[in-house]
Amino acid sequence: MSPLPTSAPDDAAAGSNDARLPPSLSRDLRRRLGPSGFIEEPDRLLAYESDALTTIRGVPLAVTLPATRDELCATVRLLYEAGVPFVPRGAGTGLAGGAVARSAVLVVTTRLDRILGVDPAERLAVVEPGVVTDAISAAAAPYGLRYLPDPASASACTIGGNVATNSGGPHCLKHGVTSDHVLALEVVRPDGTTLELDRGESGGLDLAGLFIGSEGTFGIASSITVRLVPRPEAVRTFLALFGGVSDAGRAVTEILEAGVLPVALEIIDGTTIRAVEASVYAAGLPTDTGAALVVECEGSEEEAEEQMSVALAAVQAAGPREVRLAATESDRARVWRARKNAFGALGRLGPDVMLQDAVVPRTELPTLLPRIEEVAERHDLQLANFFHAGDGNLHPNIVFDRRDPDQARRVNAACREILDLCVRAGGTITGEHGVGLDKLKFMPLVFGEPELEAMRSLKRAFDPTGICNPGKVVPSPPSGGGRA
Ligand SMILES: Cc1cc2nc3c(=O)[nH]c(=O)nc-3n(C[C@H](O)[C@H](O)[C@H](O)COP(=O)(O)OP(=O)(O)OC[C@H]3O[C@@H](n4cnc5c(N)ncnc54)[C@H](O)[C@@H]3O)c2cc1C
Repeated sequence: MSPLPTSAPDDAAAGSNDARLPPSLSRDLRRRLGPSGFIEEPDRLLAYESDALTTIRGVPLAVTLPATRDELCATVRLLYEAGVPFVPRGAGTGLAGGAVARSAVLVVTTRLDRILGVDPAERLAVVEPGVVTDAISAAAAPYGLRYLPDPASASACTIGGNVATNSGGPHCLKHGVTSDHVLALEVVRPDGTTLELDRGESGGLDLAGLFIGSEGTFGIASSITVRLVPRPEAVRTFLALFGGVSDAGRAVTEILEAGVLPVALEIIDGTTIRAVEASVYAAGLPTDTGAALVVECEGSEEEAEEQMSVALAAVQAAGPREVRLAATESDRARVWRARKNAFGALGRLGPDVMLQDAVVPRTELPTLLPRIEEVAERHDLQLANFFHAGDGNLHPNIVFDRRDPDQARRVNAACREILDLCVRAGGTITGEHGVGLDKLKFMPLVFGEPELEAMRSLKRAFDPTGICNPGKVVPSPPSGGGRA
């Protein structure tokens, strides 16, 4: 295996932007979208210079916020005719720099936030791309239904962003990720025309499946049909507290080997617990705990109870210090509030967070977790890890201050070593956040040139002129020629 290329945690310099929008295009966009749909003032553009991975930045040439499907198509058509690259953006909660627009215009979907219909008989909903993920379940709740994938950011991120990154979430272990719950898409192509994509159930190819996970490089999802499922009759949640993360990792293996598949198996390490407990999301976890494992089972009353008792027995083999049952709905909500806001709580530990999203075979967790901690210790860095343990999807976060060049260099080296460990253990570089700009340099670690070229061909099929989110996901050919 070749050595990992160097990762620069602070990419801000690459974000400087001297390019300007052609005045005629600026005038046409402003006229078409009105003052609330078009931003070109430099100070207002700054709010859009990064997604949630703030180490990668780039000020866009302009920001467009179409409010209707017609405005969306007209915006893309105007950009296409002017030959100006554009980048789709939902809520900007992405963690891979995918929605960063360098020398490009942002097309933001947050005003396209209508639920177009809920069909309880067919158990589906049709929604615009800027609908916040949680709002789909809220609209389905009166019918006893819900939308399943639940990224920890579901109260802020959009369904369009979820489709583009094929989002997962704490409850995706049993029920699958976004691609398992999208039935059809309408997409605006990079020339402003539209396409209807289904899952291949009418014959032909699963074009919607190809689009899901394309990270905004194939076009803009303008309407999304999602599957709804019944709410479970019963949910059971418990928390097992351990001396360290490798014991918690061992408990995950014990539970799965006992033959139950909980809906969620999440690990939060001691550093994260202390940050959360010092924040408004405190859930009453002991701050001297090395790691907490959240286990959730659901189904009929009988199924949930049965799975829960098997899981409770299984974790004993890993020697928990304590096991706490969530006795009430508010106990359960407190545990999930702590887990889902862990990333925000890390802000208490330092100004910058370098977040990785590696996946490893879950049986490797007990061995790999202490090795990852050792890497951070050796580089004298603060590591905070919370992750979807059942999927082997790790989020080792390094908290640092990018204004200190020596820290930035050490972060760089540690990230490289951590990803190297994960890839060598049979894992990969991203589980759910996507490649965006952040993981671009690591793609050759997991894909050969023929596979990368196949991805480039697909990009060309959807986007022949290469103006839709250029330079993301697939690295340019080694010669530097061609378009990615
Ligand atoms: C605290 C926190 C917790 C998170 N937890 C999870 C988690 O549990 N699981 C998970 O998977 N992710 C998680 N994320 C990452 C992020 O929320 C998801 O990737 C989410 O899907 C991004 O949605 P967004 O609307 O913010 O998209 P953006 O950040 O705006 O964009 C993300 C990508 O999608 C593209 N895009 C956006 N909208 C469209 C569209 N309509 N059509 C085509 N392309 C589009 C953009 O070009 C970009 O490449 C978390 C992030 C944070 C900050």
